[in-house]
Amino acid sequence: MKKTLLTIATMAVIATGCQEKRELTSGVKLDNLDTTARLQDDFYQYACGGWMKNNPLDAEHSRYGAFDVLHENAQENLKGIIDSVSKMQNEEGSIADKIATLFNIGMDSVRLQEQGATPLTPFLEEINALKSRDDIWAEILKLHRRGDHVLFGIFGEADKDDASQCIAWAYQSGLGLGDRDYYLTDEGNNKNVREGYIALMEKEFAMAGYDQMSGIRADKLAQMVMNFETRLAKSQNTRLENRDPQATFNRYTLDEAAKFAANIRWQNYFETMNIMDGMKSFNIAQPKYFEEVNRVLADADIEVLKAYFAWHEINGAASYLSDDFVEANFDFYGRLLSGREQNRPRWKRVTATVDGAMGEALGRLYVERYFPAEAKTRMETLVQNLITALGQRIDMAEWMTKETKKNAHEKLNTIYVKIGYPNKWRDYSKLDIRDDSYYANIVRSNEFDMDYMFSKINKPVDKDEWGMTPQTVNAYYNPTTNEICFPAAILQPPFFNMEADEAANYGAIGVVIGHELTHGFDDQGRQYDKDGNLNDWWTEEDAKNFDNNKQVLIDAFDSCIALNDPEFGGLVHGNGQLTLGENIADNGGLHVSYLAMKNAMKKSQVNKEQMDGFTPEQRFFLAYAAVWASNIRPAAALQLTQMDVHSLGRNRVNVALPQVTEFIEAFGIKEGDGMWLAPEKRVVLW
Ligand SMILES: [Zn+2]
Repeated sequence: MKKTLLTIATMAVIATGCQEKRELTSGVKLDNLDTTARLQDDFYQYACGGWMKNNPLDAEHSRYGAFDVLHENAQENLKGIIDSVSKMQNEEGSIADKIATLFNIGMDSVRLQEQGATPLTPFLEEINALKSRDDIWAEILKLHRRGDHVLFGIFGEADKDDASQCIAWAYQSGLGLGDRDYYLTDEGNNKNVREGYIALMEKEFAMAGYDQMSGIRADKLAQMVMNFETRLAKSQNTRLENRDPQATFNRYTLDEAAKFAANIRWQNYFETMNIMDGMKSFNIAQPKYFEEVNRVLADADIEVLKAYFAWHEINGAASYLSDDFVEANFDFYGRLLSGREQNRPRWKRVTATVDGAMGEALGRLYVERYFPAEAKTRMETLVQNLITALGQRIDMAEWMTKETKKNAHEKLNTIYVKIGYPNKWRDYSKLDIRDDSYYANIVRSNEFDMDYMFSKINKPVDKDEWGMTPQTVNAYYNPTTNEICFPAAILQPPFFNMEADEAANYGAIGVVIGHELTHGFDDQGRQYDKDGNLNDWWTEEDAKNFDNNKQVLIDAFDSCIALNDPEFGGLVHGNGQLTLGENIADNGGLHVSYLAMKNAMKKSQVNKEQMDGFTPEQRFFLAYAAVWASNIRPAAALQLTQMDVHSLGRNRVNVALPQVTEFIEAFGIKEGDGMWLAPEKRVVLW
């Protein structure tokens, strides 16, 4: 992080080809390599083995990788900002005062233990008092406004026929385990997960006193909720089904929705949340599930619904109550589900809470301190070079007709680029932070966020709004705004190294940029046009070729090994369908950034000599692999394989790279080597 302006200024001169050369590093950290491994057989081990040995997992993490190092740094930076803000004399109600108050109340362990479950009690009493189906409906509205999406959720999203407008989306929700498969299959560790979940409910129902309040034993309450959530799970879409943009867009007018699912009082909902103005139609993403919600509202036992609501209230509050609640929740969600051994220290949890509540306020201070303007300038050049290279790759694509290429170029040339931080910041003046209880503040903060989200519905989409805060170590592509975004916090080594030769930067942040650009043209992204509308701009022949090519990647990742541990389901393979979009993006990112590097080499912007014994081509792939260096426990590997659309780090290297001929050539990999893939099995899409 400590880069002087002088260094940066000198770097800029080198980038424009000045004679006076400053010593740049190769960008390859030799300590991170495991030179005892044979790279032709296991490139991941060679490129990351040293890092994995030097960064063993601690009890707090079940996965720890290059991303996590940066995330930890960002957390420490935020803590520093909060500390310095807290030391100032802040005007009451100012943003600094709000940050300091929320942080202090979260850190006040003595008061948290004293308060125990009491901050939650009024909410449970409210639920316990419900008598009729009208009461149940009214409670759903209250819970939703507090951000607790029992049964379903309503969110503001782009209208897929006119992406310039934000409309309401009704979306499946309301499972404490998050995903339907946990309830319905015995894959992996799912049986243990269900048992652990029931035990958690029983424990916390009793701790919160809801058994006494309702007159129903805690174990009975837990079973009621489990049965009910299993019923909901049966009608929910799978993760795979939710990846289909066409099938999840189903427009309804209010009249149509009233006929389709009359027990969901749509108009009353929209009126209560202040989103009736300008309401013409909205989307029901999973109609089959909403038919079931409609039935549930008519036939589910009221006591069951009350237990279900009470559980979601308790579960949502547990992290902000006394340590017994925090520990019980961690024991299940942290230990059993994700394989973490020990909870994060209090300061990290509270920093994350303040970040969640006032992310853009902290982000503003973060970029002032930690993001040099020069980094933004250099990144803008890199992005332009990547866009140029993707344009060239489109022209090179042999499987694509001229007509479709023209549309692809149009889409590429209208991509909106966001780097570092937003040009305007969110206003938190109406957020009410008080010195009463940690949980009460969370409830008010959730209401503030929900109101903000609802306020955008039935209005034009604000293209200058950011989907991530600047302190987030990540990047994204949004198909409905056709935008790519690179927050400040990802623009550091090992992604972006101001002191390294450009070959390493093309291999790391360059591939990240190429990856996000390619999302505009992956199996989902390709269904959206340049304006973000769901619109088929492909000829039939091109669509067929695309599908044939993508099948190669599906097969490759279906057959790769994710983990092999007898305690966690034995041999588990990757999920080629679920991870398809991400694997296309990695494949495209590698090809596009490699070409961008070659372009830069022609302009002498890359050192063509060997550095630390590696050619620029080799440094490119080593830098790519270094981004995915990580250690992971089996529980986390299993959870991610079941739920995450990204492949595991090892496979993003060892399965993705053999697909890329330039990699095979850079290291002279031969038939019979572990990293070898026959040319006819390699896929080239972008
Ligand atoms: Zn991605």
